[in-house]
Amino acid sequence: MRSPLYVTRPMLPDLGHLDGLLKEIWASRIVTNGGPLHGRLESELTSYLGVPTAMLFNNGTIGLLAVLKLFDLPPGSEVITTPLTFAATAHAIHWNGLRPVFADVCPETLTIDPASVKKAITAKTSAILGVHVYGTVCDVEALQSIANEHGLKLIYDAAHAFGAEIDDCPVAMFGNASVFSFHATKLFNTLEGGLVATPNPDDREKLYYLRNFGIRNEDEVVEIGINGKMNEIQAAIGLLNLPQVEQERCRRRALREMYNDALDGLPGIRFQAPQSRVKQSEQYYPVVIDATIFGRSRDDIYEELKARNIFARKYFHPICTDYEPYRGFPIFSARVEPYVQKVKSQVLCLPFFGDVDKKDVEEISLVFRRPSAVRRVRAAS
Ligand SMILES: *Cc1c(COP(=O)(O)O)cnc(C)c1O
Repeated sequence: MRSPLYVTRPMLPDLGHLDGLLKEIWASRIVTNGGPLHGRLESELTSYLGVPTAMLFNNGTIGLLAVLKLFDLPPGSEVITTPLTFAATAHAIHWNGLRPVFADVCPETLTIDPASVKKAITAKTSAILGVHVYGTVCDVEALQSIANEHGLKLIYDAAHAFGAEIDDCPVAMFGNASVFSFHATKLFNTLEGGLVATPNPDDREKLYYLRNFGIRNEDEVVEIGINGKMNEIQAAIGLLNLPQVEQERCRRRALREMYNDALDGLPGIRFQAPQSRVKQSEQYYPVVIDATIFGRSRDDIYEELKARNIFARKYFHPICTDYEPYRGFPIFSARVEPYVQKVKSQVLCLPFFGDVDKKDVEEISLVFRRPSAVRRVRAAS
């Protein structure tokens, strides 16, 4: 049996380099609360991401909580988002005393569908929270024009979109704010971590308070903040990982080509078309498997890969409206049937990181190309 192949693998720095930074931390005994490494990483990321405001957080979820507070959305108001995302997106809305409202996704990109967003707008809507899911960017122009027309804030969950660009413009310059995650599973990681970026330099101050209990100085607390602080060891990992990101992205880009070639022409199998004018982050490689044409389902392929020690992931199954707390929440759609209800059982994310090699891709493509054991068993029973 081959060694296990997972959907992703965290990029880690050279241990020798880490040792040098750990010695700095030990010498200063400054381990958190905005230490020197934190300061360095924040300034490097501000230029890397090309935004006026970039504030580190201890994880992406706390970043999402803080960004929703940043805009003082009316309590109980509605935030339109996509159900095809990680749990953090909808939960952050709910934890802010706001109501998540789910809109359908576009069949081509699987990102939130602007026409469906329009259907979901009510007098109580205060914001749209789009997700650049898998690293595919949202239709930022259409969403912005809806937000402008209805006076809504436009926020992006950019957990999958680190370093993405649209028309050479950094992805975080679109909308009112973007939240990145630096969790170990993400392209750029600090073990756990996150960042809130906005195109507005005036947002820095309030985010600073929101991140640190609202403390202004020893005598004043000026906001109802939270503990969103990244510690110095996380920052050290970030400082060492950042210079490796571009190389990892290139290797993933080459891997994407390999997969595209290997899966090309299979009836019922669709991989994501490149988006024109977009520099992809290269976070995930999702395929959409239409069982009625392909003959085997997403779950069949998932099981067959698993039997070979290859662990693809059914991101994002279950979708938010299938979670117990959001059951019964409608999905607003510009279609008769929400597309997301169909695609949720069709998407599979294949192993996607720089060290996945040609042999791995061949092994995976063989599973797609040959009639499966599962199918034969089913036919026999
Ligand atoms: C990873 C992720 C987050 C945030 O996760 P943290 O683990 O809190 O950093 C938010 N949204 C999406 C879509 C994610 O994939």
